[in-house]
This record gives sequence, C-alpha cells and structure tokens, in this order.
Amino acid sequence: MKIGFLGLGQMGHAMATRLVEAGHDVTVWNRSPGKDDDLVAAGAARADRPVDAAQGDLVMSMLADDAAVEQVVFGDGGIQRAPALHVGHSTIGVALAERLAAAGHYLSAPVFGRPPAAQAGKLFVVAAGDAALIDRCAPAFEAIGQRTFRVGDAPPAANLVKLSGNFMIMAAVEAMAEAMTLAEKGGVDRHLLLEVLTGTLFGAPVYQNYGAMLVEDRFRPAGFAAPLGLKDMTLADTAATTYGATMPVLGIVRDHLRATIAVEGNDIDWAGAALAVRRASGL
Ligand code: NAP
Repeated sequence: MKIGFLGLGQMGHAMATRLVEAGHDVTVWNRSPGKDDDLVAAGAARADRPVDAAQGDLVMSMLADDAAVEQVVFGDGGIQRAPALHVGHSTIGVALAERLAAAGHYLSAPVFGRPPAAQAGKLFVVAAGDAALIDRCAPAFEAIGQRTFRVGDAPPAANLVKLSGNFMIMAAVEAMAEAMTLAEKGGVDRHLLLEVLTGTLFGAPVYQNYGAMLVEDRFRPAGFAAPLGLKDMTLADTAATTYGATMPVLGIVRDHLRATIAVEGNDIDWAGAALAVRRASGL
C-alpha cells in the first residue's frame, strides 16, 4: 500500500519502520528534522509537509497530543483535504476524535503496547469507524500489530477505550505501588511480593511488565513519558465530565503523576508515579 506516516517519535518511528519492512511504499514526515534518516536509508520517501505524505491510500498519524494532531490536520500544510484516509493512532481526546470524524475520511485506531512492542510489530490496535475502511487498513495493521479489535462505527469509541485502558494501567501501578510499600515497610522484599502475586492471581501482562519496572525502580529512559501519561489522565477526566462518570481513583493517579513530574522532571516514565506513593510513606 502507499502509506504516509506522520510523527516519528518513540512509537511512530518504530511503527513506520515496521511498515517499510513489510514492503509498503512509505512516505514519512516529522516536525523536527533528523528522525527519518534511517527510514529514508531503508527505502522510505521524505515529505516536506504533512499533506505531501497524504497523497496515497492511507496516512497514519502518531503524534504527542491533541494540539499536535490539530496542527497536522488543520494547520498549514495539513492533511485535512488530502485524498488519503487518515488513520489516527495517537492517544487523543474524545472531542477531537468527534471533530476529525465529522470532517470525514477518518478512522481512530489508538494502540496498546510500549515502544518495544511497536518495534516487534506486536501492538494491539483498537479501531473504530466505517467497517469497510477498517478492512482497507488490514495490511497496515498487520504490519504494526498482533491483533486488531473493532469497537464500532463511531471513531471516538476507540479513543474512549484507549483512555479507559490507560486509566486502568495507572490504577494497577497505583495498587502495586501501595501494596509494595506496605510489604517493604513490613519487612517483606517487594520482588518476592511481585513473584507471589504474578504467580498466583495477578498473572496479567500489566502486572508482570509494570511490576518489574516498579521493583527495579526502572523509570529512565522513559518508554512512555510521564507528561504524556498525565495528558491521558486529563483526557480521561474530561471524558468523565462529558459522560457524567464518577472516577475517584482517576483523581488520585493523576495527582501522583503530577507530583512525580514536579519532583523528577519530564523525562521520567509514567510508571514513576509509584515514586509518589513510596515517598508519601517515607521510602
Ligand atoms: P514522543 O516520542 O514524544 O513523540 C511525539 C511525536 O509527536 C514526535 O514525532 C513529535 O515531533 C510530534 N509532535 C509533538 N508536538 C507536535 C506538534 N505540535 N506538531 C507536530 N508534531 C508534534 O511520543 P510517543 O511515546 O511516540 O507517543 C506518541 C503518541 O502515542 C501519544 O499520543 C502517546 O500518548 C501514544 N502512545 C504512547 C505509547 C508509549 O508507550 N510511548 C503507547 C501507546 C500510545 P518532534 O520530533 O518534532 O518533537
């Protein structure tokens, strides 16, 4: 397929690489120069403006936040009226997804999985929008992901699933950090606690992968930077207000992310929210 790719950050670079490796005809664009050199060496074309990457079948975007997506779609050189189908992979808010859907020729397809999963083509794609358009994306989704979930005809549904999932990841980090703090203060090694819990009732990837980061205090370099995680908790909170959902745990994890960013800076992984829990108990 002839595919444009907008945004070559940690996730986007890995996803675009998978598309090139799968043999697609890929044109890449990134705001800052220098992130596409290896992709161009591997056969990708370089676009000067987003719209120049959106002349083929699909244009996939993987950008930081709502402001970045608005800029790349509606700003100068944006893809708004380009012929390619826009597939939005970024984690954005429900309202922006509604606006993109209203403009037409758009699918939401946010992903679960961190950069190593993106490098391995093992993302989970959560797609929503016109079913025939999702069908058309199958070769691209197969290159970047291990499975595509379909969550309906309305694109914002996929964004709501993604925001709900990220809230649950943070809630799991919070629960593990609190339990590990309790164990450690009581003289039990947190590695042992994690071994018992993941070997019994908590064998899910979120506990295994994030649990390993927590017991090793392995938060740098960030695979998913805390400010992006805070962005997602804020977007989830906005959605909660829109739909009238009461989410007290969301407020706790959002504030622990804020506290961690204030103390540690922007370069810490969002799992570093566990540090705020530890500090509150004197660890
Ligand atoms: P990242 O490494 O910080 O990359 C962000 C990308 O957005 C870069 O290409 C950056 O361009 C671009 N960008 C930022 N502001 C822009 C603007 N105003 N105009 C145009 N481009 C702009 O972030 P990431 O970790 O790849 O995350 C990308 C998206 O995927 C986010 O929505 C995130 O929530 C989501 N996500 C991340 C993960 C993860 O584990 N990392 C997993 C699933 C989903 P420059 O190079 O010019 O800065």
